[in-house]
Amino acid sequence: MTRALGDIVKDILVHKGAVIEDYGQCIDVLANPQIAETLAIPELTHLCLHPGTDTEDTKHLTYDSELFERFSGLFEGKGKLSQVTITPQQVSNEKVIAMLPGKITLNNAVFKHKDTGIKIISYLLLFFKYTALSDEKKEGIVQLLINESNLSTSVIEGGANAVIDVLGELTERNSKDQLEGTKHIVLQAAHKSLESIIRTELTDMIRSLNRRLNRNIERVTDYYDAMITEARLREQRKGSDDTATKTEDKINAIKTELKWKTQDLISKFALTVKTELLSAVRITSATPVFLISINRRKGVREFPISYNPILKRLDTLPCEYCFSPDKSYYICDDALHIVCKKCYSECSKCGKSFCSVCYPLGCPKCVRKLNSAEGAEALT
Ligand SMILES: [Zn+2]
Ligand SMILES: [Zn+2]
Ligand SMILES: [Zn+2]
Repeated sequence: MTRALGDIVKDILVHKGAVIEDYGQCIDVLANPQIAETLAIPELTHLCLHPGTDTEDTKHLTYDSELFERFSGLFEGKGKLSQVTITPQQVSNEKVIAMLPGKITLNNAVFKHKDTGIKIISYLLLFFKYTALSDEKKEGIVQLLINESNLSTSVIEGGANAVIDVLGELTERNSKDQLEGTKHIVLQAAHKSLESIIRTELTDMIRSLNRRLNRNIERVTDYYDAMITEARLREQRKGSDDTATKTEDKINAIKTELKWKTQDLISKFALTVKTELLSAVRITSATPVFLISINRRKGVREFPISYNPILKRLDTLPCEYCFSPDKSYYICDDALHIVCKKCYSECSKCGKSFCSVCYPLGCPKCVRKLNSAEGAEALT
């Protein structure tokens, strides 16, 4: 889903006009004077994408390296947010309308196409870096594209190339220092989506952390259990009241130590994830927008879906809770929210499905029951 640092670096160098010979983990770079000066490298450099000791003409690029810091210089003056306008795509609206039933799957509702119009739509292309830190470290870059009008998100997989091509075609460009004028709700949706993307990215790491944590806790518990058994056996052999009290004190001390050791292990294997917005591009284009009307029971809701001129396909519907793209959606009864399977989940206690947008605190039935039980307890 995310791309390796090396691939992005290669794309940036080529985009900025360098000629590269790609050997996978290392590349030969023939840099133009601007790149050479900004990165402080000779015009012909052997660049390795792994840690190592730099020499005159061999440089190593890692997230911690000075060279990585200098890469941002290649975009200096461009600001954190760039704005581009792209030429509209030629799209056959009839073809897209005919494709709608195959592209949108609603599990508990129906929809029909209502209207089509050309609208100016803006997308934010966001580049995030994440660092997951525990007893090991994992880093990556996520490229997220979000439609600012309806919050439909897409993860750009495996190719900044497609995006760089689009940016190459731009007809107008200017820069700003920050995400000025960006609606709070857009950034909130982007962060929620980022959260679930990173969680998926880290699935293996989290699984391995839990496995190792459990194994370590088991080992420590076995060790201290053996110490307790040993203390009891020793007491049985001696058998006076005085030793019984001493043994209980000793066992309590052992139990306390086990508690501390377990806590230590939990902190050692705890995972913290930091994210950083590297840059953003607002891409604006005129594009066809297809209005659909969604019917769930007696409720009706209209929703616009745009033809995405950057990915050259129809946008997916957004899950209005986690903002991750999914294959099929559910429509909630109360407000007709569009939610993915995860966010229209069955309550683990009563088995009833509920909408996470309407009830972010959990199943409304069970939360109410829990609150009234707590209330009753507080009164007694
Ligand atoms: Zn969701
Ligand atoms: Zn419930
Ligand atoms: Zn809802």
